[in-house]
Amino acid sequence: MRLIMFGPPGAGKGTQSKMLTQRYEIPQVSTGDILRGAVKKGTAVGLEAKSYMDRGALVPDEVVVRIIEDRLQEADCQKGYILDGFPRTVVQAEALSRALGRLGKEIDAVINLEIRDEELWKRLTGRRVCSHCGQEHNLFFKPPQREGVCDCCGAALFHREDDQEEAIRNRLVAYKKQTEPLIQYYRERGKLMTVNGEKEISQVFDEIWAALERMSRQ
Ligand code: AMP
Repeated sequence: MRLIMFGPPGAGKGTQSKMLTQRYEIPQVSTGDILRGAVKKGTAVGLEAKSYMDRGALVPDEVVVRIIEDRLQEADCQKGYILDGFPRTVVQAEALSRALGRLGKEIDAVINLEIRDEELWKRLTGRRVCSHCGQEHNLFFKPPQREGVCDCCGAALFHREDDQEEAIRNRLVAYKKQTEPLIQYYRERGKLMTVNGEKEISQVFDEIWAALERMSRQ
């Protein structure tokens, strides 16, 4: 199963992808996570990507396409994968389609998580991430029991550089201008399944699951 988890920043792509990996036993491939890892390690890619990421702009297509092409060749991706945060431009979608075409494969479905801007704004400005275990909290919806401290492991919470207001504004503009056109792109190719991303996490998951079941019966 090769899926794309699609939607604006803060729509819940990461959360839903993680839940699907357990059901399908295929990996979540998040370009955001790979890039953050590269920044942390201080690799050449990380150094190049950091300035774009911090201000909420997209990293150049050729950089992310190279990362994805390498990642998808790894052994754990041979049964399938869930792409989280890729593709984000038509150029990236075309590159993915060419890379899969060379292997005689294609994407099975694109799950489009729909959500209003007001809701995204709260999710992103309120997000606080654990510096140790990565657990996400939210000041509006799921505040930590002790301010600034992770409920799961007790480590310090931090506010991602790209969750600062200016960067969020840029990320939403980048989404609307560069990424949203992919909805039409995948609709025309008969791959798009739209799900309401504003419901409870488990309800969103059930909707995704039901949509995938319907697809597999077709
Ligand atoms: P995410 O965690 O998916 O929100 O990604 C964090 C940041 O990484 C984005 O704001 C971009 O700067 C960069 N990034 C992640 N995926 C891509 C992509 N497919 N194309 C370009 N930039 C990306």
